[in-house]
Amino acid sequence: MKIGVLPIGKADAAVMVWLTERLAEVFPDATCLVTDETVPLREDTFDKKRKQYRSHAILGEVQGFAVRKRGVDLVLGVVDADIFVPELNFVFGEAACPGKTALISLWRLRPEFYGESPNETLFLERVLKEAAHELGHTLGLGHCSRSSCVMRFSNSISDTDIKQSFFCNKCSLHAKININKLG
Ligand SMILES: [Zn+2]
Ligand SMILES: [Zn+2]
Repeated sequence: MKIGVLPIGKADAAVMVWLTERLAEVFPDATCLVTDETVPLREDTFDKKRKQYRSHAILGEVQGFAVRKRGVDLVLGVVDADIFVPELNFVFGEAACPGKTALISLWRLRPEFYGESPNETLFLERVLKEAAHELGHTLGLGHCSRSSCVMRFSNSISDTDIKQSFFCNKCSLHAKININKLG
């Protein structure tokens, strides 16, 4: 199985490469790569009233890419902008569950967003957790009640910090079964 990390608009290339390397540890049966193309962050996905980007619309762009691009089983879009869905103030990410496409936002993962000092290690760990979580959804996993499991729902950044970047045994087994179906 191949997982493609797709930068949307301006996304730090070093973060993308780091993410693919770490995702390969979370999904040992998959090949993870940064896609050779990027897609632009379209201005018509910006909601002027909320001053945030519409997550569903951006996930739609990722979907469009996944349809065009052959040979990639799952596509994870990465956007460095604040995203939302109508029923929530913001989202860290979104995914088709199950499906081929997921999206994460880097915007609220930096400690600076919360008025704290920059911390690259913490930021990157959060990126990995959100990426693994959304990709877990594409594999059909729902939210998990185990506090350390990456499939635990994050309502706030402290929830993200509490959980680990790996699946619990139960979620891991479920993910593996679905990865094997993809080949
Ligand atoms: Zn979730
Ligand atoms: Zn779990």
